[in-house]
Amino acid sequence: MTWFIDAHEDIAWNIVTFQRDYTRSAFETRQLEASTPIPAFNGDTMLGLPEYNQAEVRLVFSTLFAGPARAGAQEPALAPVYHTVLEANHLYWNQLGIYHQLCENHPQAFRLVLSRHQLQAHLQDWEENNDAQKSHPIGLVPLMEGAEGILSCDELPQWWEAGLRIIGLAWSGNRYTGGTHAPGPLTAEGNDLLDAMAEIGFILDLAHMDRQAAFQALERYPGRIITSHANASRLVENYQGNRLLEDDLIQAMLERDVVIGVVPYNNFLKFGWKDSGGRERISLRMVAQQADYICQLAGDADHVGIGTDFDGGFGLQSTPIELNSIADLPKLLPYLQEMGYYPDQFDRIASGNFLRVLESALP
Ligand SMILES: [Zn+2]
Repeated sequence: MTWFIDAHEDIAWNIVTFQRDYTRSAFETRQLEASTPIPAFNGDTMLGLPEYNQAEVRLVFSTLFAGPARAGAQEPALAPVYHTVLEANHLYWNQLGIYHQLCENHPQAFRLVLSRHQLQAHLQDWEENNDAQKSHPIGLVPLMEGAEGILSCDELPQWWEAGLRIIGLAWSGNRYTGGTHAPGPLTAEGNDLLDAMAEIGFILDLAHMDRQAAFQALERYPGRIITSHANASRLVENYQGNRLLEDDLIQAMLERDVVIGVVPYNNFLKFGWKDSGGRERISLRMVAQQADYICQLAGDADHVGIGTDFDGGFGLQSTPIELNSIADLPKLLPYLQEMGYYPDQFDRIASGNFLRVLESALP
């Protein structure tokens, strides 16, 4: 059976902000949250242990994420925000601690996968006990979204030691790089950070980097690079912004063997979708088209994966109509089949391509 790697989920952020318990089913969590402010703020959850198992999502790149405080925003905000670099540092460390706690307290549900050896053992465990009735633990590979949590290059070895394996420099712009809604290049500090990351062996995530900075990072970074969650802007009519990827940037990524996680998030599939028929008008077919578009540019099916970004500021209400939870991810496959993809090709899109990155980059 086709199994999945999801290259982007803000699990710790949801645990910190809403005390979500992902060992429960998504449906139970929805019922429990129905009369709270959470659905209005973050949508209905897409995630839960039974649903991961149903779709065989065996690995997740689980993020550390915190946003900067916005001028004029109400405080205290529902989600934790930072005002200073030191505050960011605390929030990000706290979330890495949460993954350790989660895996220690619920070893039957979640497990950190930090080395090639652990990766192999984790996948073997799934293969050997491949009984649909049995629940398996989900492997977590920690990914930092926004490097504002890193005080300086000197701190990088500690992050590595504690299990961080993937770093995305940007969310919005910060002192390292231009980012979403904040165009700009890599800064001198950003260059130094990249050099220090490469020395240790971190995987670099280009998602959220401004295009100028992304081009620079592709030139500079000698290590493994991914784009955990982004779509091609060319297919999103009237799109304006710097979050989605233009063709020349995708080409440059492909030249560096980057795997790009396509995102089943309606705002990244159709500009203004809410006013043009709502959720009913957005199909997983559009996600398959995103995958196909990048495959066509690449001339192969070796550079596309899936980065759902589920529960990352949106929920069920902002996802394609075929999805009720992450359990429905396999519904993407018939669309790829229709487009002429063979099973071994959609297996690579579902998991094989990001697996290749992990196998070559984990210690
Ligand atoms: Zn993001």
